[in-house]
Amino acid sequence: MFQRMSVAHVSSYYSHTLNDDTRYPQLEGRIAADVCVVGGGFSGIATALSLVERGFSVVVLEAHRVGWGASGRNGGQMIAGISGEHCVERHLGDDGRRLLKDIRYLGHEIVEARIAKHAIACDLKYGWAEVAARPRHMAGLRSYVEERVEAGDGDHLEIVEASSMDAVVGSRAYHGAMIDRKSGHLHPLNLCLGEARAAAAEGVKIFEGSPVISFGGGAKPFAETANGRVDAASVVLAGFADPALQRGALSGLVFPTGSYIVATEPLAERVAREIIPQDLAIADSNVVLDYFRLSADRRLIFGGRANYSNRDPHDIRATLKPRMVEVFPQLKDVALDFAWGGKIDIVLSRAPAIGRLEPNVYYMQGYSGHGVNTTHIAGEVVADAIAGTMERLDLFERIPQVRLPVGQFLGSQLLALGMLYYRLRDIL
Ligand SMILES: Cc1cc2nc3c(=O)[nH]c(=O)nc-3n(C[C@H](O)[C@H](O)[C@H](O)COP(=O)(O)OP(=O)(O)OC[C@H]3O[C@@H](n4cnc5c(N)ncnc54)[C@H](O)[C@@H]3O)c2cc1C
Repeated sequence: MFQRMSVAHVSSYYSHTLNDDTRYPQLEGRIAADVCVVGGGFSGIATALSLVERGFSVVVLEAHRVGWGASGRNGGQMIAGISGEHCVERHLGDDGRRLLKDIRYLGHEIVEARIAKHAIACDLKYGWAEVAARPRHMAGLRSYVEERVEAGDGDHLEIVEASSMDAVVGSRAYHGAMIDRKSGHLHPLNLCLGEARAAAAEGVKIFEGSPVISFGGGAKPFAETANGRVDAASVVLAGFADPALQRGALSGLVFPTGSYIVATEPLAERVAREIIPQDLAIADSNVVLDYFRLSADRRLIFGGRANYSNRDPHDIRATLKPRMVEVFPQLKDVALDFAWGGKIDIVLSRAPAIGRLEPNVYYMQGYSGHGVNTTHIAGEVVADAIAGTMERLDLFERIPQVRLPVGQFLGSQLLALGMLYYRLRDIL
C-alpha cells in the first residue's frame, strides 16, 4: 500500500503554474479532533472548510500532497448538477427532483464564495457549453433546456443551432450546442491549494505524506497512519481511497478509469479567438467524451479518453493529438507542452455515492468525472449531517448503488468493455 507515495505533484500545466507551494507536515504521534478527514482533494478540503466554518476542530490526512489526485489534474470544467441525475430522479421521484434543483449550482456558489472570501487566484471564468457530437444529440440538449425553463431555473441556458456554431467553437465537428452561462472553468490545482490555505488559516490541521492505513468507527472512531493516529468523533473518507480502505459498502463500488489531457503551447490571440471565441469551457455530448477549454495564458487544454484497455497509454501526446487535430485541424502544427492523466472514479449508477459506513464514518466518492461542483456539494452535505442536519444525506443514502466485488483487475477489464460499448454507441 502506498509504496510509491509521491511528495510531488504530477507534471502538468497546473503544477507548472501553481501559485502556492505550501508544504504541510507528516502526522507524527497521536492527536485528537472532532472530525478526521481522509484525503486532501476537493472532497476532503471542501468538507474540512465547511466543518471548520461550523466550529468543528478538523484534521485532514493526505497520502501524498494536497490536490495530488484528480482534483489537481482535471479539465477544470465547473459543470452544473451531478452525474447520474436520471438515476436520482428514477429512485427518488419528486424528492429527487427537488434535491437536484436545490444542489444544481450549490458547488458553484460555494466555490465562488470561497474564492471571494479567501482571495483565491484560480482563473475562474464563466460560460460552459455542451456541443452536439451527432445531430441526434440536439434533442437531448433541447429537452434539458425546456425542462429547466419550465422549472423556473433556465434563464442562463441557451440553445445554439448548427448554423450559428462559429460563435461557440471554431470546428466543423459539432451540430449545435447548449450554453450554460452560470457554469464555467478554472485552474483546479490553484483552487484546491487556495481552499487548503484558507482551511489551515481557519484552524484545520492538514498533514501530507500521511497515508491512512486503517480506520474505524464505533465507540472510538480513529484513523491511523504508519507514524500516527487521530482520535475523532467522526471519520470522513473523502474521495476514492486506496483500494485496501474500500471496504463494506464501498468494496466493488468504484471503478477508477484513466482520463488524459494535453496542453498546447500558448496560442496566438487570433487563433484562440477563432477556436473558442467566447472563452467557454466545452464538452461534447458523447458518453466517452472530449473536453477542452483555454487556459488563462491561451493554451488549449484538451482532454479525453486515450484507449479502451484501461491501461495508461505509453505516449499521451501521440494518443490525444490526432483527436485534437480532428476537432481543430488549424492546430496541427502546434506544440504540446504538457501531457498528463488521472483517474476518474466511476460508479455504475453514475450518481455520486455519499453516505455512511457506520453512524460516525462517512464517505463521498464516485463522481463519475463530474467532480468540481459535486465534491463541494458532497462536502456541504456531509458537514451538514455531522452538524445534525440529515435531510440531504438521507436522500443520497436512498440512491441504490451497484457493487461488483470482483477485484480491481477484473473490474477494470469489465469497465473497459463497458466503455468500448458506449464508444461504439456514440459513433454509430
Ligand atoms: C483527467 C481528469 C479530468 C477531469 N475533468 C473534470 C472536469 O473538467 N470537471 C469536473 O467536474 N470533474 C472532472 N474530473 C473529475 C474530478 O477531478 C474529480 O471528481 C474530483 O477531483 C474528485 O475529488 P476527490 O477529492 O474526491 O478525489 P481526489 O482529488 O482524487 O482526492 C483524493 C485524495 O485522497 C488521497 N488518498 C487516497 N487514499 C488515501 C489514504 N489511504 N490516506 C490518505 N489520503 C488518501 C489521494 O492521495 C488524493 O489526494 C476529472 C478527473 C480527471 C482524472
